[in-house]
Parts: sequence; C-alpha cells; structure tokens
Amino acid sequence: MDYDILVLGGGIGGYVAAIRAAKGGAKVALVEKNHIGGTCLNYGCIPTKSLIRSAEVLDTVKNASDFGVKATGAELDLESVIKRKDNIVKMLTEGVEGLLNANQITIYNSMGNVKDARTVEVKDSSGKSLDLTTNKLIIATGSVTTIPNIPGVDLPGVITSKEVLNITDLPEEVCIVGGGVIGLEFAYILNAFGAKVTVLELLPEILPKAERELVNYLLDSFREKGISILTKAQVNAIEESEPGMNVMFYHNDEEKTLQSGLVLMAVGREPNLAGLDALNLKRNSSKGIIVNSSMETSLPGVYAIGDVTGGVQLAHVATAQGIVAAENALGEEAKFNSNSIPYCIYSKPEMAWVGLTEEEAKEKYGRIKVGRFPFTGSGKAMVYGDTSGLVKMIIDEKYGEIVGLHLIGPEATNMIAEGVLARMLEATVIELAATIHPHPTLSEVLMEAAHMTLDQGIHYI
Ligand code: NAD
Repeated sequence: MDYDILVLGGGIGGYVAAIRAAKGGAKVALVEKNHIGGTCLNYGCIPTKSLIRSAEVLDTVKNASDFGVKATGAELDLESVIKRKDNIVKMLTEGVEGLLNANQITIYNSMGNVKDARTVEVKDSSGKSLDLTTNKLIIATGSVTTIPNIPGVDLPGVITSKEVLNITDLPEEVCIVGGGVIGLEFAYILNAFGAKVTVLELLPEILPKAERELVNYLLDSFREKGISILTKAQVNAIEESEPGMNVMFYHNDEEKTLQSGLVLMAVGREPNLAGLDALNLKRNSSKGIIVNSSMETSLPGVYAIGDVTGGVQLAHVATAQGIVAAENALGEEAKFNSNSIPYCIYSKPEMAWVGLTEEEAKEKYGRIKVGRFPFTGSGKAMVYGDTSGLVKMIIDEKYGEIVGLHLIGPEATNMIAEGVLARMLEATVIELAATIHPHPTLSEVLMEAAHMTLDQGIHYI
C-alpha cells in the first residue's frame, strides 16, 4: 500500500484528521481539489468572522463618544475590509500547509475519485492519472451550498455566502433567502455595513431548534437595528428589474414583491458526494453518509466525518470527528460524543448554547429548574460597554446536573466553552456556583446564573 491512511478533503475536518493520523505514526496522504482549509478557512467561519470584526470595530468607533473618546467621520472602507479578510485567510491556510508539511503528510492538489475502499485516483501536477492505494480511507469532502429550484436563481445578482465575502459594491437593499445561521450572520454584517436587509424565511419560526426566549431576544435586537425578518415567506421567483431585482414571494397568503439590489441564497448546505459513487455507501435522509460513533461507514476501514455525514454541520464537530476517525484508523478506540456540542451565532448580540432547551429538558427530565442572569448585573459588561443579553441555565432538579446552558450577549461564543466543559464533566449547578471565577470578567455571568438557579442570587434579585 502507498499509504496507511488517506484523507479525502483538506477542510478543517480532513486536515486535522491527517495531522492526528501522522502524529500517531501513520504514513498519510491528503487529497484536496481546491484550497487547503476547505469551506471554514476559505469561505466560511474565518472570513465571515473577519467581516464581523470589522463591523464591530465600525460600531465601536461610531459610538466612541460613549467611552469618552472623540472620533468623527468613521466610515467603512469595504475594499480594505476584504483585503484584511483575505490576508487572514492566506496566513491561516499557509500556516496549515506548513503544519501538514512538518508532519510529513503528502498533499495531492487534485480531485480524488474513489475507485474502491483502498484506491483513490488523483491527477499529478502534469495532469497524469495516478492510483493511490491506502489501508484506511477518511472521507472529509464537506458540503456544497443548496441552490433552491426557484426561477431567476441563476441571475447574476443572486449570490451565495461564498461570493458575498468579496462584495465591494454593496447595494442599498439586500434580500436574504433563508433565516438560518448563515442568513442571520450576514443580515447582521450587511446591515452593519449600511444595507437595508430583509430576511425571508420559509418556516414559521427562526432557528426552531434553539431556546425560544433567546431567539426572541435576538430577533428583537435585529429589528431594533432595522433588519426585517419575515417568516412563512415563500419565494416564487426572482426577476430582473431596473435597478436590481424583484423578489416575488408569498407571505401570509398574500403575494408580495421586494425590490433588492442583491439576493443572498442561504437555504442550507448539502453533503458533497462527488467522486464517491463507486463506494455505494449507505446514506441517510439528508443524503449524508451513515456512520457509527467510531465514524466508520457501512464499509469497514472507510470513515466519514463532518458535513458529508449530513449531521450537525459545524466546523468544530468536523474537527472532533476527524480526530475520532484518525484514532480509530490508527487502531485505537475512540467514540464521538454528541452530547455536548456548542452552537454559536456570531452576530451582535452573540448567541451560543449547549445541551437542551427548556422544553426539551422538561420532556426528558420532567422536573427541571431554570435560572437566569442578565448582563446588566455584570460590572465587566458595564465596563465593556455592552450589557445586552442574559444567561439561561437549565438543571435537572433531581441531581442538579446542568442540562442546558444558553447565552446571548457579549462574548457569548467564547464563554459557552465553560458550559461545554460543564456538560462533558456532567457538572452540577452547585459545582459551577462554587467555581471561583476571576473578577471582573464577563465569565462571572455563568457563576451568577448558577447562584440564581439555586435561589442564591448575589448580584440580581
Ligand atoms: P440552515 O439549515 O441553518 O438554515 C437554512 C434556513 O433556510 C432554514 O431556516 C430553512 O428553513 C430556510 N429555507 C430553506 N429553504 C428556503 C426557501 N426556499 N426560502 C426561504 N427559506 C428557506 O443553513 P445555512 O444557514 O445555509 O447554513 C448551512 C450550515 O452551515 C448550517 O448547518 C449551519 O449551522 C452551518 N453554519 C454554522 C455557522 C456557525 O456555527 N456560526 C455559521 C454558518 C453556517
């Protein structure tokens, strides 16, 4: 065999799997047809967060007087914003390539066609076909943007989350189709950059799986910024108009038209199965490759991780699954634990959660207790200049275990990590309440929420 382990796809799941496999002593190849880093580094997590950071800085400078700082004439320089984003992406992808090389992983910059469970066909730099043989195969081919079957979806002004990252000429009005995480994050970014944003969501509710109380808080804050969010909105057609486009949709049984200079399609992503036909792997209802908790597919020795499995489409899930797959391919025993996955929305306010919602916890445990602590009770939040939001903690009343933790407010996405650890360790509310948190920090809101859940609140009634 040419390789012990071959990883197909160099995104954040695949390259992490390759590094873990190499660290375990395996001879590893990584096949990537596009850029190392995949969607996350090149067109997803990292570039969007770079744009979000620019939006935050603009907002802070515009409101500098709140901090006693005189700063006038703050305005967006979109070209520089994009240049900064491109530099970050370049530094990170080059850094990852450096790590792969340092771990002696052979990179093939080519489409990989899987011929069977042990053979992947690639093209070498001169275009010649080459069959690579491997003992174990890890499929990490990610996902592709879903393009709905709507007339006009191929008009030049209709774009996806990939193209919007490079937009230098922002129209006055933007329509976002789909109110999921991509739709909401771009609604925040494009609104902060100065566009009038309307989100059209098909379902009756935005983020149906998230904690309602916090979703409502998020939506109120979006509306205050001037972002319109319409639910039960079904787009029928997009037509060219002068200027821009007309988006035709049904809303509350009425046919409506929205004028927009740009339409962003954000209706989901689906598993990327290109090059995998020959394996004939078992698939689930969302077209994803079925895997067990070892990340092994229906074919022994063939693993699949990340978005291609059609499960939770999150970078950190792909990474965790990549490590599990690599360890199993090395002959170790590892299982993927899906009980404590953090979910994050990087808008302002930020929202993040782990574990069950109040409704889910009630259904599972019967007797639960809920504690809330608002950021208005945090000294550090005042100093920081943002007291919006709250923490909602849900415990199982019998054992006091924290079964759900939901945050909305400043740095929520950083602070949820503590909740994830609490869930991993099956921590109780008493343990979190007794954990000394540094003062003053935003992280204290978690300890305070634990106090509130125990009816022993200190900084809130
Ligand atoms: P999504 O599945 O989260 O949301 C898509 C939304 O579009 C849903 O609410 C759906 O009801 C709606 N929709 C579907 N068809 C529609 C139609 N024809 N008209 C109007 N609305 C329609 O998908 P996404 O937002 O595209 O994101 C893709 C994946 O990437 C998700 O799994 C998401 O969690 C992940 N992601 C995560 C982050 C993050 O963690 N911060 C950021 C971006 C993307």
